[in-house]
Amino acid sequence: MSDSQPDSNDVREIRINPIVPSESVLVATARSMRPKKAEELAPRDTRKHVETCPFCRGNEHKTPPVILSWPPEGDWQIRMVENLYPVLGDDREQAGFNFGLQQTIDGYGRHEVIIDHYEHGIAVHEMAESHLAALFGVYQTRMRQLFESDERLKYVLIFKNFGPAAGASIPHTHSQVIAMPVVPENVDAEVRNSAAHYAKHHHCIFCALIDEALTFEATIYDRNSGAVRRKINVGQYVVERGEKFIAIKPFASRYEWEVHILPLAHQADFLDVRAEDLADLARVMKRTMARLDAVIGGAQYNFFLHSVPHDSQQTAHAPSYHWHLEICPRTSIPTGFELGSGLFVNTINPEQAAERLRAVEL
Ligand SMILES: [Zn+2]
Ligand SMILES: [Zn+2]
Ligand SMILES: [Zn+2]
Repeated sequence: MSDSQPDSNDVREIRINPIVPSESVLVATARSMRPKKAEELAPRDTRKHVETCPFCRGNEHKTPPVILSWPPEGDWQIRMVENLYPVLGDDREQAGFNFGLQQTIDGYGRHEVIIDHYEHGIAVHEMAESHLAALFGVYQTRMRQLFESDERLKYVLIFKNFGPAAGASIPHTHSQVIAMPVVPENVDAEVRNSAAHYAKHHHCIFCALIDEALTFEATIYDRNSGAVRRKINVGQYVVERGEKFIAIKPFASRYEWEVHILPLAHQADFLDVRAEDLADLARVMKRTMARLDAVIGGAQYNFFLHSVPHDSQQTAHAPSYHWHLEICPRTSIPTGFELGSGLFVNTINPEQAAERLRAVEL
């Protein structure tokens, strides 16, 4: 019976992404209204060591050439290697061709793999905070080296696919680094829209969203009579808070358990995070992932780092763009409706999702 009788807490609304208004999400929580259902996900590989895995210790000779290891001496904990099947590479110098409306630019760039941990199937929330801080340090080091190595590189995308549901082709825990001569469209949309917001309102929209997330209550007054029109709780989006970083549930979350981590103080470039603050970032990350894992029961996810592009506009965008880490756990497979409409469907009210994540005892 309950399937056909939506209860009063059910939500069906289209939420507009405040940063990229062209991106919207259909929040539809009643079972009868859901255009999709949760999928049974293939389990992830949780083994500690796998004899035949090229990324496990002892098999270093099976990987492409090493780029860096951490720590530099003794047994490695984190190891970075070239990608065996790069999507972009610097080995083929070919001119872009233009043909009518079809244009290309060189597929120039770098594609590298970071073996995040020597333990094969370890999840991020199981890693030591000091290890995670070192991993973020490796991200920074490599990002800096790549930007310094070639001025044609405008963006360095760092991301992680964890678990088969997130498209991880190699079960050993790893991240990927792709340095490219173009700015990815979704980052570019954020950069353009936040710059437009800044031009109009003279503040960073990400900072404003953090302020809203931290404000527990907002009262809306009638401008003419001064009477209270509506009280809304907006502090409900905070998932985890550290000294320097915060994890928030976006109001227009595309994925049921999507969470973003941002520096509390304005900062456009991930490269500007000070070494001593990486421990706080690691702590917020570990606790957020532990919450997700507890609520979802074994999180499989993609996460990616969005930082200000190193293009000709970098200085101009520094006051308006705010770097962040987007964590997108996969709990269902996109439907034809989502792929065809470009409208994401979220079946859990983001305020309730944030509440459930906060309620996890760590
Ligand atoms: Zn392995
Ligand atoms: Zn900001
Ligand atoms: Zn982003």
